[in-house]
Amino acid sequence: VLVGRRLVSVEQRRADLRFPLPDGFGDRLTGRVIKAIERSGKYLLMRLDDDCVWLAHLGMSGRFRIEVANATSETHDHLVFTTADGVRLSFHDPRRFGFMDLVATGGLAMHPMLARLGPDPLGDSFDGSWLAKRFAGRITPLKAAILDQAVVAGMGNIYASESLFHARISPERLAVTVTRAEAARLAAAIRAVFLEAIAAGGSSLRDHRQPSGELGFFQHRFAVYGRAGGACPGCRCTVAETGGIRRIVQAGRSTYFCARRQR
Ligand SMILES: [Zn+2]
Repeated sequence: VLVGRRLVSVEQRRADLRFPLPDGFGDRLTGRVIKAIERSGKYLLMRLDDDCVWLAHLGMSGRFRIEVANATSETHDHLVFTTADGVRLSFHDPRRFGFMDLVATGGLAMHPMLARLGPDPLGDSFDGSWLAKRFAGRITPLKAAILDQAVVAGMGNIYASESLFHARISPERLAVTVTRAEAARLAAAIRAVFLEAIAAGGSSLRDHRQPSGELGFFQHRFAVYGRAGGACPGCRCTVAETGGIRRIVQAGRSTYFCARRQR
């Protein structure tokens, strides 16, 4: 819908989202052609024809919505972009934890939001040996280690539990104890969970919608997340034997796992 299209109007209804928008944000985007759209971790990178990148992060509740040009606005539509061929793109964000910036292509790697970001799990530089290097010497529970965006860009709380379940490794293990073989298994599990989640349109637990307005469906495929006390889908342990999927709290956030399958 956007690649190769020119933005003919940008209606900026607020000066800020989570942070102030850059000076002249709407004016600087008006007239630009979007040449390519990429993603790195949770960041969206829209490459423009003036050698700048429009950087965006959805935050907690942000979403882009694609509509026809004369659609009516909803409350919390903070930015409205219109293309030359009459497509309207709204950025809707009730809680306003979203983020946008305009960055010169040459300065992208140094941008404060991107400089510390590790490899994206779907990119070439992410594998078991990368994880093994990052886990070396780290006396921290594995769940916390993979939530560090410098280790796995884009990892979130739900996908951390799901990935560790598929890799059959306990979230309570210290990162330093993970073997090379386990790190390779975990890297493959993370990649598989991300691919499956993207194919399902993401997880609509609260606010998430696809740009078409459709819900995501990955929440129906969670193996462990939100399933405390339920039967483990990965092994034959019965709920009567083991109590089923367990929920624990790590660093203030829920972790779900099977204590029999994940060691
Ligand atoms: Zn089990």
